Amino acid sequence: MEVQEIKISGMSLIGGKAGNRSGAEFRGVNPTNAAKLEPAFRSATTADIDRAVEVGAAAFPALANLTGRARGGLLRRIADGLTLVGPTIVERAKLESGLALVRLQNELIRTTDQLKLFAEVLEEGSWVGARIDEADNDRKPIRRPDIRSLLRPLGPTAIFGASNLPLACSVAGGDMVSALAAGNPVIVKAHPAHPGTSELVGRVVQKAVEESGLPAGVFALLFDAGIEVGVALVQHSSVKAVAFTGSTSGGQALMRLASSRSEPIPCYAEMGSTNPLFILPGATKERLAELAEGLQTSFTMVSGQLCTKPGIVFVPGSERSCFTDYLRTGMSALGWQAMLTHNISERYDKAIQQRFSMGWEHLVPSARDISEENCAAGLPVVFEVSLAEFLKRPELEEEIFGPTTLLVHYDTKKDLLDVAKSLHGHLTATIHGTEQDLANARDLIGILETKVGRLLFNGFPTGVPVNHALVHGGPFPATSDGRSTSVGTQAMLRFVRPFCYQDFPDAALPPELQAANPLGIMRLVNGRHDRT
Ligand code: NAP
Repeated sequence: MEVQEIKISGMSLIGGKAGNRSGAEFRGVNPTNAAKLEPAFRSATTADIDRAVEVGAAAFPALANLTGRARGGLLRRIADGLTLVGPTIVERAKLESGLALVRLQNELIRTTDQLKLFAEVLEEGSWVGARIDEADNDRKPIRRPDIRSLLRPLGPTAIFGASNLPLACSVAGGDMVSALAAGNPVIVKAHPAHPGTSELVGRVVQKAVEESGLPAGVFALLFDAGIEVGVALVQHSSVKAVAFTGSTSGGQALMRLASSRSEPIPCYAEMGSTNPLFILPGATKERLAELAEGLQTSFTMVSGQLCTKPGIVFVPGSERSCFTDYLRTGMSALGWQAMLTHNISERYDKAIQQRFSMGWEHLVPSARDISEENCAAGLPVVFEVSLAEFLKRPELEEEIFGPTTLLVHYDTKKDLLDVAKSLHGHLTATIHGTEQDLANARDLIGILETKVGRLLFNGFPTGVPVNHALVHGGPFPATSDGRSTSVGTQAMLRFVRPFCYQDFPDAALPPELQAANPLGIMRLVNGRHDRT
């Protein structure tokens, strides 16, 4: 793939061709100075949406029946293309998001590593979960049939990425790669905060599909300035699944649409989370200063615009003033922080003004000046409330997307258990303490297991490793379905369904289920795991 071939046209990418020119026009915006960026983009039209879904549906059998090795090859081609075009992609992402270049370079590596990890899983092959229960012709009173099952893809899948990870959670990000790896054509609704980045990545994917000899309908990228295209996509009868990463309001709107169709479809929405952090007494005695520093780094990382930001921190009341003093020193060195879009910074400002109006204790940086005029930015703030106040106001559990966190002071272990029980679903929870604290906190751990998808000890939840074991999910409202993860290779399991063959001749079975196990994959044969 030649770098110079990659140009931004501003048009949707559908079945290897450009979308319609008649859609509404919009532009990317540089959040650091509000400048409109070239070129103009065209929203996809109804005809574009229909075409994207139809060519996706037509490409489905070819993609679904591809060997794991070939599908892995497609993912590796995408990864190689992204690396090649990386500098152009990262420059454009910086312009559209205001994120630091080094952060975006690392995010690109995370994105390509993620693609390669899924490729390894496909090439190894056991992920299809083959199960074989052989026939027993002599069984009385009736013969036991031969049953063989495996996981099969669902069909064209609509993908919505978030603004805060323009590479790892967008066009070739976690949702897209897990749906594609599982064998589903993908139709990505580009995020309007980074349309140029989306197109550059989309062109790499389009080229990789072509070079893999696959039907172009395997991938489409649709632009839209508003929500109409996304809504139409989720309602389209040939779309069979939805993956969404973004706000609670957006995710819940799409969940409602997906479930109210005449054929309801799964909608995996990964939404906001406040990631409660529990500081136990032993930790405050051993390393309060270190904890305050770690918390400040974590809640201001990417200006607090991460779904894993610790947004509620339960602190022993006895250590209140000491912890606050450490945080005050750290906060005084901060200034306003650049944010991803002007809309996000306005929403953030409204949310913190509302908290200021409550008259609660708070910490803010001493320098309140903003460096650049017209820069989307937010003021870092730490608010403090009593446990009683927190319990009175359920809205305090909701995410504020930006550089703020809330300290909640508790007095007794019972208080802590009561408040933990009152929480709704979150992506993560964190316990800070000594090993003795942890040994005394079995009941807290038991409660938190029911509230989150990832429980950390003595760490900070920002930073999400992509591997085979990670769970980035959690009970509603953190996600639409707490039985799933949107990061890591288990994310593929969202886009498959179990399917079985009964009494099929060996030659007519897919290789994963044939008697000789030609792919050498791990299978459950008559109740025993076996690779032979
Ligand atoms: P967002 O505003 O919800 O946007 C996400 C995408 O969904 C955009 O393409 C958006 O299009 C579309 N959308 C939103 N509401 C819609 C609706 N009602 N109908 C159809 N489409 C709709 O989210 P964001 O501001 O980009 O991302 C920030 C949020 O994502 C935060 O809350 C953060 O916690 C969350 N997040 C979660 C995870 C996770 O894994 N759980 C990861 C990263 C971020 P428009 O912009 O055109 O409306």
